Amino acid sequence: KEKKTSEQEKVQNKAPSQPAVFIPVDRSPEIQEARLKLPVLAEEQVIMEAVRENPGIVICGETGSGKTTQVPQFLYEAGYASDGQIIGITEPRRVAAVSMSHRVAKEMNLPPQVVSYQIRYEGNVTSDTKIKFMTDGVLLKEIQKDFLLRRYRVIIIDEAHERSVYTDILIGLLSRIVPLRNKKGMPMKLLIMSATLRVEDFTDNQRLFRTPPPVIKVDSRQFPVTIHFNKRTPMEDYTGEAFHKTCKIHRMLPPGGILVFLTGQAEVHNLCRRLRNAFPFRKNNTTAGEWQPPHTLKYLKAKSSLPRIDLDNYSALPVDEGDEDREAGIGDEEDGGSDLDIGDDLADSEEKADPSIPLYVLPLYSLLAPEQQAKVFRPPPPGTRLCVVATNVAETSLTIPGIKYVVDCGRVKKRFYDRVTGVSSFKVTWTSQASANQRAGRAGRTEPGHCYRLYSSAVFGDFSLFSEAEITRRPVEDLVLQMKDLNIDKVVNFPFPTPPSTEALVAAEQLLVSLGALEEPPRTGRVKQIQQASLSCPITPLGRAMASFPVTPRYAKMLALGKQQDCLPYVIAVVAAMTVREIFEDLDRPARSEEESTKLTQRRARMTQMRRLWAGQGAALQLGDLMVLLGAVGACEFAGCTPKFCEDNGLRYKAMVEIRKLRGQLTNAVNAVCPEVGVFVDPKMTPPTEHQVVCLRQIVLAGLGDHLARRVQAEDLLDPKWKNGYKTPLMDDPVFIHPNSALFKTLPEFVVYQEVMETTKMYMRGVSAVEAEWIPQLLPQYCHFSSPEESPLPWFCSSSGTIRCHRKSTFFRVGWQLPAVEM
Ligand code: ADP
Ligand code: MG
Repeated sequence: KEKKTSEQEKVQNKAPSQPAVFIPVDRSPEIQEARLKLPVLAEEQVIMEAVRENPGIVICGETGSGKTTQVPQFLYEAGYASDGQIIGITEPRRVAAVSMSHRVAKEMNLPPQVVSYQIRYEGNVTSDTKIKFMTDGVLLKEIQKDFLLRRYRVIIIDEAHERSVYTDILIGLLSRIVPLRNKKGMPMKLLIMSATLRVEDFTDNQRLFRTPPPVIKVDSRQFPVTIHFNKRTPMEDYTGEAFHKTCKIHRMLPPGGILVFLTGQAEVHNLCRRLRNAFPFRKNNTTAGEWQPPHTLKYLKAKSSLPRIDLDNYSALPVDEGDEDREAGIGDEEDGGSDLDIGDDLADSEEKADPSIPLYVLPLYSLLAPEQQAKVFRPPPPGTRLCVVATNVAETSLTIPGIKYVVDCGRVKKRFYDRVTGVSSFKVTWTSQASANQRAGRAGRTEPGHCYRLYSSAVFGDFSLFSEAEITRRPVEDLVLQMKDLNIDKVVNFPFPTPPSTEALVAAEQLLVSLGALEEPPRTGRVKQIQQASLSCPITPLGRAMASFPVTPRYAKMLALGKQQDCLPYVIAVVAAMTVREIFEDLDRPARSEEESTKLTQRRARMTQMRRLWAGQGAALQLGDLMVLLGAVGACEFAGCTPKFCEDNGLRYKAMVEIRKLRGQLTNAVNAVCPEVGVFVDPKMTPPTEHQVVCLRQIVLAGLGDHLARRVQAEDLLDPKWKNGYKTPLMDDPVFIHPNSALFKTLPEFVVYQEVMETTKMYMRGVSAVEAEWIPQLLPQYCHFSSPEESPLPWFCSSSGTIRCHRKSTFFRVGWQLPAVEM
């Protein structure tokens, strides 16, 4: 009997879930021919039948088999975008979202108004859009606005193997949304696409899908790739090793493109520059697009004494959600590329021994401008060899044609999070065996290839088998807040493909409760009940406002409070500046020539002077490093935010451009939440008044309450390691104010900090002074108050009609005595 009903259901569901039309697509013969070579084309019928029969399916296929470019086209042709609804595709990387939308539009001969993209800061979606590529973060935001995603007929989650946090959460949410839509008679399909076969986390997961979705494998013709391990493993200079290996391949091996994997933007540029110097060629200006054979060393030397613009030095797009190599570029920026490169030329001169054909070197990483990025897909100029130097963007998201040799540094840049200090940092670590094999596979797309691993087979044996899901190694307070905003109160019960640890979830809920974003759990009842209740606190109205700001909950709290005393423009500027990892240029780098050394010394002196100026005096100085940020942003905008101003004052131009965009975006977000405030942020702002500075310090304290530190007390000073140190509630060791900080000389008793960075010492970054008496008032959740009975002299307040008294308070864990407050 049961069987029958399920069959009946199937029949019922089948009718509306099947579009009847076929939408013709007018492709050019060349495109059509290229498509037919893609392995996924052979599976079109199988895929489309599976889509028709099931609410969700999984498609696995090697990178380059045509999943991303073709599957949306299959769905379009089958009419899935024909009755008002659209096909949505999510990508973890903005690079992929933009470039794939362009590619698909081109293949289908449709304008960008129809095949469009949306990433955090930009997009070209119109009411005519039928196929929409977007970053996973964008779709998550859309779910907040419309949980049923009524606009979409199909959602494709691409690159699911990357296990980005937003992708994982989307899959969890869609596992509920799709059945709900089908139940309501608004059929919807879910396609999960992955480059690896390891999809058990999605398929064999009872919490996620009650009936496992069918898995369709796309067999691709992969040519054999010979793996060459290094005998030794360079621990430090793998970029240098990659350089030598690439030179060798180019000089000694038959034609075929080279793809080098490094970890970040700065490394990519560094290697590109060295390779271009070693194997130069010159573009002939008269016949655009034609390339001349390389010129002699002599010419190059003569040229390098002239000022040279760096083509790669353009302003980057602002950061996007969930893209690991994005911030890699910030803070470890490549140097400007000027006459200083001569040193490099000489050092590499032995590698220049008579290059027979020019090497056409192209960088590839997430933040690269789309037109630069598109170059890797075009054939290299005739008579040259293509060499792409890439981050792991080229591992699975983009397929570069014609690669025969892969050089793999074996490393990847990842964000790490320290549970104790709350500090996140980017570190270069070994990649996984699965990733290393993906990288090697890039060499065998069109013919047998070779992969040169810059590490030994023993080291490879120690790599983990697969990369961990991102969600297990990062703080989750922002995700928990987003979910609560979706009314998912019991986040522990959420069907995560891989759940984060319970500790991480508890820590996130506690932080959110203390920020006032979640309701406080009841403190009575059995321990177990309390624990359970504390893991299912509902969101507060403040929390909802915070969830709509695209920044971490601590900063969101500041934005939510910012309207007081007209502080909002300042709070927005400070939050934007704090979100960008580093606004100052690194002038402490080693100089490569005496001339550079003098220049650096001069610029350092100038920067110190400017920092002091921006920090202000008197009341302003108390805002400390955040006042410096505010001053720098203000001054830069007054000067028109030019590269020259930044260069002269030790500011990173890219960071300042990014701050400007973020300020615009945050202003819109704040106006959407509280239209009655109606802030209009003029990029230029007048300095805050004394009153506003005090108010700003309090707002900062309210947001960064769990980052409070107190100057070490006399009784602790017996131990010399505590000299000028600060104590924090969570750490045993002292933390310090950095000599560059505006408050280095003042050493206020109480400070809040943005984060702790461990360099030579544990240094606090972004320090502001706060007053002891603000703490019990602004951070009551962290304070223990004496009971009213213990308070001397209570009095009756006639205006409020209550009995009031002074209550003493102490700070949690550390028991710092704080001034009494009237309650
Ligand atoms: P998958 O998603 O399975 O990794 P794709 O759909 O991304 O595969 O790629 C299919 C083919 O399309 C590849 O051979 C790739 O080189 C080609 N391709 C992708 N983007 C472009 C582009 N912008 N220009 C030219 N070819 C491209
Ligand atoms: Mg793809």
